[in-house]
Amino acid sequence: MSEPLIEVKDLKVQFNVRDGIIHAVDGATFTINRGQTLGIIGESGCGKSVTAKAILRMVPRPGKVTGGEILYHRRIKSNGSEITDIVNITELDPDGEEIRKIRGGEIGMIFQEPMSSLTPVYTAGSHIGEAVGLHRLVPIRKVGAQMVETIQAHRRISKQEAREIAIDMLRRVGIPKPEQRVDAYPHQLSGGQRQRVMIAIALSCEPKMLIADEPTTALDVSIEAQILDIMRELQETVDMAIMFITHNLGVVAEMAEEICVMYMGKIVERASAVEIFYEPQHPYTRALLKSIPHVGKKSRERLASIKGMVPDPFNLPSGCVFHPRCPEYMPGKCDRIVPSWTQVGENHWARCLLYEGV
Ligand code: SF4
Repeated sequence: MSEPLIEVKDLKVQFNVRDGIIHAVDGATFTINRGQTLGIIGESGCGKSVTAKAILRMVPRPGKVTGGEILYHRRIKSNGSEITDIVNITELDPDGEEIRKIRGGEIGMIFQEPMSSLTPVYTAGSHIGEAVGLHRLVPIRKVGAQMVETIQAHRRISKQEAREIAIDMLRRVGIPKPEQRVDAYPHQLSGGQRQRVMIAIALSCEPKMLIADEPTTALDVSIEAQILDIMRELQETVDMAIMFITHNLGVVAEMAEEICVMYMGKIVERASAVEIFYEPQHPYTRALLKSIPHVGKKSRERLASIKGMVPDPFNLPSGCVFHPRCPEYMPGKCDRIVPSWTQVGENHWARCLLYEGV
């Protein structure tokens, strides 16, 4: 039976900047169950990554969570039995002990740029450092040293045990000669190997959930396929949930069971991957799908641009924000009424006036 791990309810994130307020995430609602892969798709700047960062309390300044809640269903031992403790992540201090335990330990995160994630001198508060559970200035070091520190930050084990786990993880993600590579510096590894090391770091604490934000964008197709296989394999072994953020529909079709489609900070459609690809209901989703020729195949193609321009975030269109680009625009309705969330099938929801009977 599917059991919720993360529930995001009516999440709102705003950026208050000199020119006004950007509603980066505007009322996002979704659930990720244990062991499930949820894909989040949409054009650049639609709010996918900000949603992920909100889950880890890592929204960069001047961004702020201004509404909603993120509930983390954590299993804990109590009097010899296992119970579920619900933590409201939005109420946690972003620099506090509790979120640091979750970040990098219970929820891992991988990014698109493995070199900058592994090499840099990163500081307390930098998102990369925070994501792997490190909170202070770190000089350029061997990959094994970074892995050992991350593992020890989240598990009470000796350095030697942590090193053994690090070597084992490197082996599992397909790094050849892991006993030797553990002592390599990041610049001595290829791009594909660095990305695998990043995945190994994220998975070394056996997280309950992995947030993968465009994890394979910078890689070539064969390495991408290997990394997706590794993620699926590890998901089965440890019943890990994955939040897979991408603008590559070919990849999400392979990975996700459920998909949320985002546009201008709002989730506009949510359904199983099969329904999104074969019975899309929202005009934006249909436009996305039409913009690539071979959905479902191993394609590296990025989404082609959709008719019209992405609106100015400081001056959003009235009514449905997609109306200036929508092929099914209904004058007098779509420019006046903000669509609400409507059920359009079993476990299939869309935010469009076509289904509201107005
Ligand atoms: Fe298009 Fe109107 Fe639906 Fe918006 S509400 S997606 S403009 S049909």
